[in-house]
Amino acid sequence: MKRGKGSRERAIAHYNETDSKRLAVVEAVARSVHTSLDVSSVARAAIEAMRATFETCYVFLHRADPVLQALHLVQIAPVPADARTLHTVQTVMYDSAFHVARSYKEREPIIIEDLQSASTHRMEPTHLLVMSGARSSICVPLWFGETFEGALTALFPVPIAAGGPEVQALLGCRSYLAVALAQERLYQQVEQEHLRLQAVLDQVPEGMLIIEAATSKIGYANATAADLLGIPLEQFVGTPLSITPQEFHVPRVHGHPAFPWQFAVVRALSGETVTRLDTLVVRPDGSQASVLSSSAPLRNEYGTVTGAVLVFQDVTAQKRLEQHRQEFLGMVSHELRTPMMAILGYADLLYLIMSKGEGLDADQALRALEGITRQGERLTRLLEDLFDLTRIEHNQFALQLAPHDLRALVSQMIESQATTAHQHQIHLVLEGIALTDPVVGYVDAERLVQVFNNLLNNAIKYSPQGGTIKVGVRVQAEQPNQVLIWIKDQGVGITASDLPHIFDRYYRASTVDSAIRGLGIGLYLVREVINRHGGRVWAESAPGQGSTFYVELPRARK
Ligand code: ADP
Repeated sequence: MKRGKGSRERAIAHYNETDSKRLAVVEAVARSVHTSLDVSSVARAAIEAMRATFETCYVFLHRADPVLQALHLVQIAPVPADARTLHTVQTVMYDSAFHVARSYKEREPIIIEDLQSASTHRMEPTHLLVMSGARSSICVPLWFGETFEGALTALFPVPIAAGGPEVQALLGCRSYLAVALAQERLYQQVEQEHLRLQAVLDQVPEGMLIIEAATSKIGYANATAADLLGIPLEQFVGTPLSITPQEFHVPRVHGHPAFPWQFAVVRALSGETVTRLDTLVVRPDGSQASVLSSSAPLRNEYGTVTGAVLVFQDVTAQKRLEQHRQEFLGMVSHELRTPMMAILGYADLLYLIMSKGEGLDADQALRALEGITRQGERLTRLLEDLFDLTRIEHNQFALQLAPHDLRALVSQMIESQATTAHQHQIHLVLEGIALTDPVVGYVDAERLVQVFNNLLNNAIKYSPQGGTIKVGVRVQAEQPNQVLIWIKDQGVGITASDLPHIFDRYYRASTVDSAIRGLGIGLYLVREVINRHGGRVWAESAPGQGSTFYVELPRARK
């Protein structure tokens, strides 16, 4: 009876001791979770509490890596002096025999009560338990719902009991550690998603700004936005929406606000979606851009507007092209109508003379027929240019290459032009070749005739006062596989600001006399044909000084 009482008291005392030790560890871990969910500090609290409460060899925490199918060491105390021991625990593969890996597969704590009597657990000498000289160990797998997060392990220098305070203590803090590991994993996942999204936004060709509703400040801007608005990226983030143009040193141009989208953003912040707003942006350097912008509110899960996103793209080039295209269409109808009216006029004249029954004066008839032919040819040229333009736009422009004598081609062209250009003297200049020398090139002869006619017509057209036009063919000994053909006039010339654009589609110099008719596609076609031959074309000119157009062509077949 007495003995019984004594053993019950001992049992109660043992229970109290077990419980208080378990509580000491769990309380320390719970307290650390309360202050921070950071894995390192929770792990440190658990490891320190275990070491302070029990006699331990090592206590350590592993984090699961499902991609590598491995567990990585987060913390260990004390840090093993022996590098081999540390290496053994650093990374443990899921399919290894280590307790941390087994605890994952078995989903249960692995408890070795006493290594010396654990005949069923024959371990290889490289096993940590053996290497560290420990007698017992506990490894607790950490699960958060259905996700394996890691494992907490403790090694002891003395035997332990399966229901002892060491096991209780480790089991008591596993849920705290699992939560801390899960929260860090989820945080990293969100962070990675965020970085991925940001990398995508940084690369998109549209400018993008995000404005935070709470602060009315720009929270994000991508590089395209900075480029387009001409303001360094670092100046954007944190800038209030109420920014004035002066703060960015943006000049006010024709009363246009510097940031015309401010209004659209305010509308988006109040919950409205604004699409395809056509605006003009003025940059700090005074240059302007036509911008198409859209903005929309950003809402949280309760539907509250937390910000606004503004997306914008530079449509300056498209707008300019569209404007040129419109002007071009107007000019085309005019250009087609003029020769047509002339042809009809000549036909009327012939009809009138014939209907009067008067005999047809041979001279009159010849002039009328010449006029009809000339205007008909002009009409044909115009239509051909228009067809070529369409072919180029639809990528249906093919060259018929064959060997041709370029010198002969140029001579024939001069002869045919000389008969109509009465105000101009056209001279052929040969450099590096004799008059009878052929300069054979592998070219599309029909297309090149079109090119040289275009250049020669321009030389005539843009020197309304007449003058000499020189057409040169040059072959240099040091570059026998190249031929340079140039056409030099004494006409109106081209300003430095127009010169870089004259080969652009629909481009006509602003200073050109409106009486000189044209569509602004001739030189564009010239450049296309020459480029497709593997050659190049360029011009040198100054106002009032005449112009020289150069065409460089490779002679041999490439
Ligand atoms: P267009 O039909 O207007 O002549 P082009 O494409 O042939 O179109 O030429 C584009 C522009 O280049 C012309 O409008 C003109 O301003 C300028 N240009 C072309 N050739 C000459 C030249 N020989 N002298 C002066 N200006 C020229």
